[in-house]
Amino acid sequence: MKDKYGRNIDYLRVSLTDRCNLRCIYCMPKEGVNLLRHEDVLRFNEVIKIVKAFSYLGIKKVRYTGGEPLILKGIEELIFETRKISSIKDISITTNGLLLYELADDLKNAGLNRVNISLDTLKPDRYKEITRGGEINKVFKAIEKALKIGLAPLKLNVVLVKGINDDEIKDFIYLTKEFPIEIRFIELMPIGEGKEYFKRGYIKSQDILEEFPELKPIDHNNKIADMYKINGGRGAVGFISPLSCKFCETCNRMRLTSIGTIKPCLHSQEEISIKEFMYDEEQLIRVIRAAVINKPLEHLLNSDGISKSKRQMYQIGG
Ligand code: SAM
Ligand code: SF4
Repeated sequence: MKDKYGRNIDYLRVSLTDRCNLRCIYCMPKEGVNLLRHEDVLRFNEVIKIVKAFSYLGIKKVRYTGGEPLILKGIEELIFETRKISSIKDISITTNGLLLYELADDLKNAGLNRVNISLDTLKPDRYKEITRGGEINKVFKAIEKALKIGLAPLKLNVVLVKGINDDEIKDFIYLTKEFPIEIRFIELMPIGEGKEYFKRGYIKSQDILEEFPELKPIDHNNKIADMYKINGGRGAVGFISPLSCKFCETCNRMRLTSIGTIKPCLHSQEEISIKEFMYDEEQLIRVIRAAVINKPLEHLLNSDGISKSKRQMYQIGG
């Protein structure tokens, strides 16, 4: 369905948990966070009710994220139930990939179309530092497996942080020569732990494009990423530039948090609680419709550099 600015809203991102098996430096504090109580978190049957309601209003793509969605027992069941909603054409997961190798076959058989794996470095020691303890070989194995079983297109999310991993841009770009993957460089956003790192400045997508003229724009229908390719490359390189080139005008997404609130915009304060309408489908659809229609026009990160979100990235899911 269209919001009041005429944008076609067909994509729902669902954060299933605020828990995670990593503590990435720009996302979670070292000492961990105050976690939600289990009883406050949506159960899978409630998630399905909400996804269904969204599907009646034109949502065709669903992405499950977190925290880390793959730490949840029975995640393949959730995928299976989502697959049964016939108007949902695309089901994806954003994951750090640590548990994907073991789960990939079951997820694929349950109906998962594709995954985005977050990987900010290709160096084992650096990966340990950025994630505070992660084992990169598990992610490499997961990537191989995802490619093998056709969880495609496979996208790798790379958040660039000045002085931390900006010396690896070339290595990531050249991975797309050999592998049919999409590298997505994401500008660091000043939210949560990211605020501290953001003070160093952020890597603008335009600067990378100037440094790598071999990247040539390609036709695509992605609403938020600008897509490029190197000559003869099997994969592609995407740039997600919420700051330097914001894409609010074409934003097609709504977000659902794990406690049952809708966030129509990642960086706006506004949240609409729908948990209380869970068992009245008509009312649920009415509230969701109003939330979609009133989706804010844009975020104001560029003007004041501050995210207005009341929640952190590990609670929203990116
Ligand atoms: N745990 C999963 C993962 O890491 O893929 C899913 C949740 S994580 C919050 C989703 C995405 O948000 C990841 O790609 C992560 O790198 C990104 N992210 C977290 N904090 C960010 C920030 N301050 N700016 C930009 N991206 C961020
Ligand atoms: Fe966990 Fe993902 Fe945040 Fe890293 S980015 S701490 S993996 S939620």
